[in-house]
Amino acid sequence: MKKLTVLGATGSIGVSTLDVVARHPDRFQVVALTGNSRIEVLYQQCLQHRPRYAVVGRPEDAAAVGARLSDAGVATEVLAGPQALEFVAALPEVDAVMAAIVGAAGLMPTLAAVRAGKQVLLANKEALVMAGQLFMAEVKAHRATLLPIDSEHNAVFQSLPADYAGQPARAGVSRILLTASGGPFRTTPHEALRAVTPEAACAHPNWSMGRKISVDSATLMNKGLEVIEAHWLFGLAPEQIEVVVHPQSVIHSLVQYIDGSVLAELGNPDMRTPIAHALAWPERVAAGVAPLDLPAIARLDFERPDLERFPCLGLAYRALAAGGNAATVLNAANEVAVAAFLDGQLPFLGISEVIGATLDAIPVEEMPDLAAILATDAHARNIASEMLQRCRA
Ligand code: NDP
Ligand code: MG
Repeated sequence: MKKLTVLGATGSIGVSTLDVVARHPDRFQVVALTGNSRIEVLYQQCLQHRPRYAVVGRPEDAAAVGARLSDAGVATEVLAGPQALEFVAALPEVDAVMAAIVGAAGLMPTLAAVRAGKQVLLANKEALVMAGQLFMAEVKAHRATLLPIDSEHNAVFQSLPADYAGQPARAGVSRILLTASGGPFRTTPHEALRAVTPEAACAHPNWSMGRKISVDSATLMNKGLEVIEAHWLFGLAPEQIEVVVHPQSVIHSLVQYIDGSVLAELGNPDMRTPIAHALAWPERVAAGVAPLDLPAIARLDFERPDLERFPCLGLAYRALAAGGNAATVLNAANEVAVAAFLDGQLPFLGISEVIGATLDAIPVEEMPDLAAILATDAHARNIASEMLQRCRA
């Protein structure tokens, strides 16, 4: 029996995770579930999975949900706040932690799981982007196991040899190709991007996801964050990570070897496949995903990304090349800009402007420790908020 904590259980990845878990009650047991604001969803999940602990954002919600669960005969202890997230991520009885909180809020609980030496199923790419060097050093120091949930990185992981260990040259890997759907605005002319709404940006053609990552997909920042994520996960130089637009999202990413062989993982675009892969690894379990019907799909298309219409991808490569604190700044500025866009306070094209201006404003520095990372994150959020005023027009 594998015992699980699901961080971000009430979100898109969390719900898909519990869907796979519910298919295999003989294999997986939920010990802790966490949400933030979607209290009713968390309550229903606790009724179904009967975890030992649940965590919500606010103490008053914890008390209310705890009382309702107790009335329903469920003995879940309901806690609140960031410390409680770290507590349930590091419980001694837990084997694996699904890290599916969105954004920088996921860093500390994910690090707590790493430091407790857990199997960490990583969906929360922002944690790795903002703290890559430290994060990977902690994985090594505490012998944690990192299994990628992001579909592209999961595909790369599956296409690499089992003993890869972050060493491309030894494995004969020349580069990886990360596929990108291109998002909802792949063919939208630049002029028309000025007026796009949050609703249009969140209507992804292939994947159903939370709102923040949906906007990231629309700007191609999601692919930029994934380039940085791949750098840390697989020990690849920026020039070994190429992005290919593939609108059908059937090939989830590819690994090219020095002899010319290219290995890939294909499937229907459904996050339950990478989730099931990581939950059961190194075994395999059913995920509830329909089998791939290639004749029905009929064709697969590929094109190069358009960095002029989607400058966020270029900004991410710039931050990766700069190193030090630059990716922390990039991630923080992106979170501020995307929240402002979703709130109707910033036009779509302002997102890349805010991020670019924030990167310009903060000098590149080495970042040896967690305190410096958190200070840079906070500073970059302040600067990005100032830049919002300028980029609103
Ligand atoms: P959602 O917005 O659907 O879910 C986010 C989860 O995080 C929710 O459970 C939410 O709680 C919780 N949360 C938000 N803010 C906080 C906070 N301050 N403290 C504690 N918990 C918080 O996002 P997704 O599931 O789409 O994405 C989750 C992560 O997975 C992201 O990093 C994303 O990039 C990554 N990912 C997602 C994919 C997808 O297909 N969705 C694909 C690949 C990666 P609540 O809802 O209760 O407020
Ligand atoms: Mg992805």
